[in-house]
This record gives sequence, structure tokens and C-alpha cells, in this order.
Amino acid sequence: MAQIRIENVRKEFGAFTAVQSSSFTVEDGEFFMLLGPSGCGKTTTLRMMAGLELPTAGSIYIDNEEVGQKPASQRDIAFVFQMFALYPHMKVGQNIAYPLRSQGMSREATKKKVDEVAQILGIQDILKKPVGGLSGGDRQRVALGRAIVRDPKAFFMDEPLGALDAEFREHMSEELRALHDRMNATTVYVTHDQLEAMQMGDKIVVMNHGVVEQFGVPQDIYDWPATMFVASFIGSPSMNFVEFDGMAGTATTQVSIGESEIAIPELREGARGKLALGVRPEHVRLDDSASYRGEVTATEYLGTTQIVTLDSANGSIKARVPSSQTVRVGERTGLHFDARTITIFDAERGMALRSAGNEEVLAYG
Ligand code: ATP
Repeated sequence: MAQIRIENVRKEFGAFTAVQSSSFTVEDGEFFMLLGPSGCGKTTTLRMMAGLELPTAGSIYIDNEEVGQKPASQRDIAFVFQMFALYPHMKVGQNIAYPLRSQGMSREATKKKVDEVAQILGIQDILKKPVGGLSGGDRQRVALGRAIVRDPKAFFMDEPLGALDAEFREHMSEELRALHDRMNATTVYVTHDQLEAMQMGDKIVVMNHGVVEQFGVPQDIYDWPATMFVASFIGSPSMNFVEFDGMAGTATTQVSIGESEIAIPELREGARGKLALGVRPEHVRLDDSASYRGEVTATEYLGTTQIVTLDSANGSIKARVPSSQTVRVGERTGLHFDARTITIFDAERGMALRSAGNEEVLAYG
């Protein structure tokens, strides 16, 4: 398996730039997610990494070999499009054997390899069956078998579970992740589903409008978003933002918002202009003694927790609180934000100023 590194990679289609200068590294054996909304450039990035699209500028390395201008056929990788794309007239074993036979591998060597792969996937007993009558799950396993049988350097998957219903999707994503852990195969996976990315990925790249907004392990991206876009895109409900005016002068651990003083992580000296305090719903407590106030406009019961929507002087706030807590629509209450979990953003540029857990996003000079 392999490490894949992309450096300052850009893709233009005519006058349109689909991917702005992007750099990141997929380490050997990682399950790596390219995440972002529709049209953000994740598929184009994946296709460039796989050699199905050539970059306009920048370099792509597979194990330190520059492959940027080489086509997919010379990169020794496997691309899994939709997992259902099988040869319908062939049996399961023939489907899996196909890539090896077409490379000229002998019958015996092919059989040995197909048996090995069938064992990894737990499909030994269906090798002789036609693919036509298989269940969805088995069809996916066969398609995966056909990709892994060649021992490629890396797997590339573009929304492979996209066509499945929610329950089956969850089951297959667990299976895919377990298979990855058994094989330790470098895998690059495109999804627009933040939950799928968080659950399956060792690392995530979050893209928006062709730009890599953040790159890191799921927990850092969730806890310490580098931009307001990442903060909104990851997490459901997404992070709350409360805007306030930054003050020139000394560093502070308090901000005034309306009549209230709110404790925050230390804000550097000189942070001025429009700022925003970002706090996740689970870090908002309904506490009548807190000076920042809001009126409850809705509650949504979710089993052990409930989402409470409140109208505050600075906009709508969502809190995730235990369902056992009694909350009534129309009541006014205090809102307490857990200071240790707050991220402060430059609201005009949308960038995090200070993230206590992630010094790299101390963007404010
Ligand atoms: P989706 O999930 O909708 O596929 P995506 O994040 O994967 O979105 P891309 O498919 O990479 O996005 O496309 C990024 C942008 O580049 C889009 O605006 C798309 O229309 C444009 N684009 C992609 N391929 C081409 C092409 N061959 N020619 C022109 N524009 C293209």
C-alpha cells in the first residue's frame, strides 16, 4: 500500500477553477475522506489523485514518485465507482477473476487469488452463483472483491454507498471500514455526508468552492473548526454563532454581548471588527442564572436528548439538553456557554481566530 501526497494541485475547466491550489497527504493505510457539498471539487480532486483527470498545475506523488501527469492505468490503483457495476452475465468468481485474467494471469494463480479474496470478504460459498440473483450486500462484496484482487497501491471510492437506503448504508459502511482495518489498504473516499465521514474516516479533508478549508482527524475538525463553513457543515444541528464587536486593546477572556458578559477562551490583543463566538448546541446550558437570555421557540424530542431553539437578541440559538429537563415554548431563560469549548471567528473572513485545541488555526495576526 502507499502514501499519496498532493502539492498545490489545481484544476481548471476552461475559465472555471474547480479546484484551487490544494495540498495534503494521505498516509499509508489511512481511510481518508474527501468531504464537502455538491460541486465543491471533491470528485475532481479524487479523479486527479487516481489519474482519471490531469491537474492543470501542481504535483501528485504516490510513494514519492511523481505521477501527476500519468494516466490511471500507470498508477496501480483501483477505482470503485458504484459498487453495483458488475458483469451481469458472469458468475461471482468470474467477476472477481476478470481483472487478473485480463492481465494474463494463469488459471491456477487466478483461482488461488480469487479464493483468498473470497475468504477476506466471506463470500466463498457464492463464487459459483450468477450475480443476477444476489442480494445488494453480496453484490457490493463482489464489486469490492474485483477491486481488491489486484492488490492495488490504493483504493479510490466515489460515494460508493450513495444509492443505498439509510439502514443498509450504515451496515455497508461498517463492513467497509472493518474490511479496511483487516487489509490496511490506503483508501480515498468521497462523500457529501458529514456523518459518514466522521464515522468512517481516519482523516478528513473538508472542501468548499474548490478550496481545502480544513484537513485533520474527525475530532479536531468537530471540536476546533478552522472556518465558519466547517463549523456549520459538520455537526447536526450545526454550531451556533453569536456576533459581537471585537475590541482593540488588551487580551481578554470576557466579551460584552448586549447586557451580558460572556466568558470565552483568551482572545488575543488587537482582535477588532466583527467577530463571532461559535458554540456547539451540546455546550449550551439552559441556566436561569446566566445573564445572556433567550426565549424558547421550539423543542424537538430526540429520545435521550432534546434540541431546544431559542430566540436571543443576537439571533437563534440551539441547545442540546437532556430530555428529562422540562422546557416550555414561550419561557425565557438564561443561556450559559461552556467557555472552554468556544471558538472565536473573524465573522467577515469566516476564519477561526483562536482555537484552544488547535494552535495551527491561530490565524489572527
Ligand atoms: P458532486 O458531489 O455534486 O459530484 P463534487 O464536489 O464532487 O460535487 P466536482 O464533480 O468535483 O464536485 O465538480 C466541481 C465543479 O467542477 C462543479 O462546478 C462541476 O460542474 C465542475 N466540473 C466538473 N467536471 C467538469 C468538466 N469535465 N468540465 C467542466 N466543469 C466540470
